[in-house]
Amino acid sequence: MAQIIDGKAVAAEVTEGVKTAAEMLKAQTGMQPGLAVVIVGEDPASKVYVANKGRTARACGFLSVEHALPDDTGQEALMGLIDELNGDPAIHGVLVQLPLPGHIDEGAVIQAIAPDKDVDGFHFTNVGKLGTGVTDSAFVPCTPAGSMLLIESVLGKDLSGKNAVVVGRSNIVGKPMFNLLLAANATVTVAHSRTKDLPGLCRTADILVAAVGRPQMIKGNWVKPGATVIDVGINRIAAPEKGEGKTRLVGDVDFDDAAEAAGAITPVPGGVGPMTIAMLMVNTIVAAYRSAGRTPPV
Ligand code: NDP
Repeated sequence: MAQIIDGKAVAAEVTEGVKTAAEMLKAQTGMQPGLAVVIVGEDPASKVYVANKGRTARACGFLSVEHALPDDTGQEALMGLIDELNGDPAIHGVLVQLPLPGHIDEGAVIQAIAPDKDVDGFHFTNVGKLGTGVTDSAFVPCTPAGSMLLIESVLGKDLSGKNAVVVGRSNIVGKPMFNLLLAANATVTVAHSRTKDLPGLCRTADILVAAVGRPQMIKGNWVKPGATVIDVGINRIAAPEKGEGKTRLVGDVDFDDAAEAAGAITPVPGGVGPMTIAMLMVNTIVAAYRSAGRTPPV
């Protein structure tokens, strides 16, 4: 049976470090790190994510500001708010919760965020820095950065000689995950919906990262014995065993099956999920330290 990678415990350690760093910054400069989260519309899952981000930010000692805008907010109004936050010295991180309503040009909004406040790491400047290995001044997207810490917790920082397979090529998870694994010296393959013989490819992976959005797609016999399996997927499925109309969360990996073969595996929930918010706190404290002209201790 595999080692279960406890994302909650690692995330708690990370946020504790952020809290200490925030206290140090305040003591040294009087500055309090500030995170602004913008949400447009009423999507229930987005509201839960935003509430969790705010709660964790406050627990880290940050100034946490939430801008909840109505569904019919126009592009100009949203861009105006981002402009304001870009210029606000009390705010060091700006995050716009995605997805945005269909009438808004999401790409334009992301590119409007000042790169040095882009704590989601989606601005072209940060994407380009990560892609060219300039990681000391880049903001790395939170989910792959958190997944990387979990991999490090099992295998250490140097992945020389390891084969990694990332299933999924999104800008938010798959592509930055590729860059992070490559930077750690793994030999990386990125798979997607057009990949042939996905099970066979997955079986070559010492490190298997699933970011697909398909419940329990990756089976135990796709997993190389002893592999480290990171399940990024969050899928809600029916759970009639819990009662009529009830649901539960599962990953992209068939956990019980895969845990028989894997050396280490993340559960869903309690694996990558908590790491995403923890890494947002890291990016925000880093932004605050950089704006003070200091080297971040985390
Ligand atoms: P996207 O939908 O943007 O990307 C999914 C990727 O999976 C695409 O590259 C797609 O290929 C590929 N794919 C889809 N079906 C198959 C298939 N049958 N075989 C092989 N590849 C396939 O999703 P995201 O990257 O945004 O998210 C992935 C999962 O991670 C979701 O479950 C999401 O909820 C979760 N997530 C979790 C987070 C967390 O905090 N833990 C944060 C972000 C996401 P193609 O490009 O060819 O279409």
